[in-house]
Amino acid sequence: MKIDVLSAFPELIKGAFQESMLKQARKKKKVIIRIWDLRSFTNDKHRTVDDAPYGGGPGMIMKPEPFFEAWDALAGRSAGKKPRTLFMSPQGRRFDQDMAVALSREEHLVFLCGHYRGVDERVVRGLADEEVSIGDYVLTGGEPAAAVIIDAVVRLLPGVLGNFDSAEADSITSGRLDHPHYTRPEEYRGMKVPDVLLSGNHAEIQKWREEQALIRTRQNRPDLLEARSRRQR
Ligand code: SAH
Repeated sequence: MKIDVLSAFPELIKGAFQESMLKQARKKKKVIIRIWDLRSFTNDKHRTVDDAPYGGGPGMIMKPEPFFEAWDALAGRSAGKKPRTLFMSPQGRRFDQDMAVALSREEHLVFLCGHYRGVDERVVRGLADEEVSIGDYVLTGGEPAAAVIIDAVVRLLPGVLGNFDSAEADSITSGRLDHPHYTRPEEYRGMKVPDVLLSGNHAEIQKWREEQALIRTRQNRPDLLEARSRRQR
């Protein structure tokens, strides 16, 4: 998979791919992630990426040219299939695990990150296939949103997680939340690991984990169980 990120503040996102799973995924060539500085696609001395809004009002708007020129440079001139281009926006469809799975099947993704008051609408209409939000709150820029989506997508690529089963068992993916986990020591600050996990009885352990997962889901996210029973009906 190839991923390109267009940003006026590339340093905001670089670190997200330099550690842990994402770093390994890049090293193992499961994904190529390139971050493009929109300022390199400007033609003036000050490398201007923003300007005042037509019609007046507060805040600056990101100019269209750097986005279009960067996009052309990385995708537009190539003969292959057009990359799926996502504009990060609180106005977009809410990102979720189903979308992560769908995106993980693409060959090439491009992320457009806004900043300031917003982005010239022609970028959204002319380049983006869709607008995607990571939740109902407003960020300073699209970079953290792109980092969240890229992280969720790349960990689904075959061979990225050590054991693919661990993605299947994850919260949400499995239609419920994950069960509690414990590691050594057996007792810490007066809190003991549940006896069943030390019993060596795999059937009992499995049963306990399933029960716990259900209890938690009922407590924290009953909507997941309702959605699951709706799907089964
Ligand atoms: N005035 C805009 C918000 C601008 S915030 C509006 O009301 O829609 C600046 C940039 O941060 C946006 O252009 C977008 O790229 C990014 N951003 C902010 N919140 C986001 C969210 N919840 N999900 C994805 N991107 C977001």
